[in-house]
Amino acid sequence: MHRSLSIRLLWIAIIALILGACGSNTKATTTNPSLVAQLKGSETTTADPRDDQRLAMHESTVSDIDAHRDVPFYQISGTINPKGLTWQAHQTVTFVNHSGAVLDRLYFRLYPNLADMGGDLTISAVQVNDTAATVQYEADRYIARIDLPTPIAIDATTMVTLDFVTTVPNKGGDDLFGTLYFDKHSLSLPTAYPLLANTQAGAWDLAIPDSNGDLVTSPVAMYDVTTTIPNTYSLVSTGTATTTNKTDATQTIRVVSGLQRDFMLSVTNNPHVSAVVDGTTISMYYPNDDIDGANLALGYASTALHLFNTTIGQYPYNELDMVTSNAGSFEGIEYPGIVMYAQSSFDSQSDFEDLVVHEVGHQWFYNVIGNDVQQRAWVDESMTTYTQVLYADAVHGAEAGRNEIQNFSSDYDQIRDTNVDFKLDTPIDAFDEDTYGLIAYYKGALYIDAVRTQIGEQAFAQALKTYYTNNRYAIVDGTAFLAAAQSACNCNIQPLYNQWVLGE
Ligand SMILES: [Zn+2]
Repeated sequence: MHRSLSIRLLWIAIIALILGACGSNTKATTTNPSLVAQLKGSETTTADPRDDQRLAMHESTVSDIDAHRDVPFYQISGTINPKGLTWQAHQTVTFVNHSGAVLDRLYFRLYPNLADMGGDLTISAVQVNDTAATVQYEADRYIARIDLPTPIAIDATTMVTLDFVTTVPNKGGDDLFGTLYFDKHSLSLPTAYPLLANTQAGAWDLAIPDSNGDLVTSPVAMYDVTTTIPNTYSLVSTGTATTTNKTDATQTIRVVSGLQRDFMLSVTNNPHVSAVVDGTTISMYYPNDDIDGANLALGYASTALHLFNTTIGQYPYNELDMVTSNAGSFEGIEYPGIVMYAQSSFDSQSDFEDLVVHEVGHQWFYNVIGNDVQQRAWVDESMTTYTQVLYADAVHGAEAGRNEIQNFSSDYDQIRDTNVDFKLDTPIDAFDEDTYGLIAYYKGALYIDAVRTQIGEQAFAQALKTYYTNNRYAIVDGTAFLAAAQSACNCNIQPLYNQWVLGE
């Protein structure tokens, strides 16, 4: 997520460098037909719909699907009515009880019902393993509780089917979180379906998330989503479209996600430009016919994707989409395989390049490597903010990288050594909005830089790769990068961790 950034680089220099680096990369394509054909051809003997999940994965990571067969599987089929502000759908979730405890109930999170989202998500016709069950709403309708006719044994597979209707608020603006919104061109539906709550050892995490930061912590899952929309709109989402069937007025599009933590949909009549980078298609759906801004964003994202593929590890999906919203309450927010920029940030602010790089960086830190974004937001925000330094180093030179650090340091200096200079390992709800950003983003990035300084360039480069390789699709805390750094340098950086992260 991204709330605000200070001015870092000369805008003219940015434009000149990026145009030079990424001159001709506009090409209209939204899927990878050759891979689709190749994979379709090889699966005629099996009926498991999970096989199609391979269609969303980068060619180097297709086998990850077979290695994660029993992650939760969401099959959703429905209709989006942009003018009516609704998504009406039928959902089946199949999951294995890996919680370590027998479950006598299930909980789903209904993010549109959060007060700060301002929407509505209502469930009906629930069945658990083909037996009807009732829904009880809790926590101001953020939580739906389903009492089970029969308890679910440890390691048993369960199938929950339900119908839902999500309604987007008819106004947005600064008084709401702003991501669930229709800005007259794009209808955004982030986490707008019932999402299984997290449970471990018999305890459910049902806390209402603090909307100062990102909202969704969830294990990697697979999504198979079929959506009917008017022909006058495009569907942009997590994952890759496999089939499209058109009538005179509507189109029905099936999308598979691959291994992703969440599923985000946008329905837009904005045009787009695309580029293919290392086998991944990046598409930018842009507002106001601003094709120059769109090409800038596409250039920044293309450069960042290739750089992070090289320095951290391969982006594991064959698509990355970028959309805008005119809600006016955030600058940029990351979702799995898709990022959303505020229309006001789009090509209008000097930190636009940093914003694009930051949200692209989140695909590695937050999405592929997950963390509890409410209890330890710094884990992804520190690394993601640091991707801006990696990018500045590589694209604009080491001095530009040091300028980024200097700016983080100046911002953090506002609270350094004061009574709100919290340790990194602090939950979001302990911060006010400004302090949260200064700690989780800037102090977090300064900690990563302190690690880099102590272990040296070669070990730091290895630590990034090891961290990614060892923790793809997992949910980690700060000790995972500590371990990667220590194995890379064969040294002890626990004192740094104790100081910055634990405040000791
Ligand atoms: Zn962020």
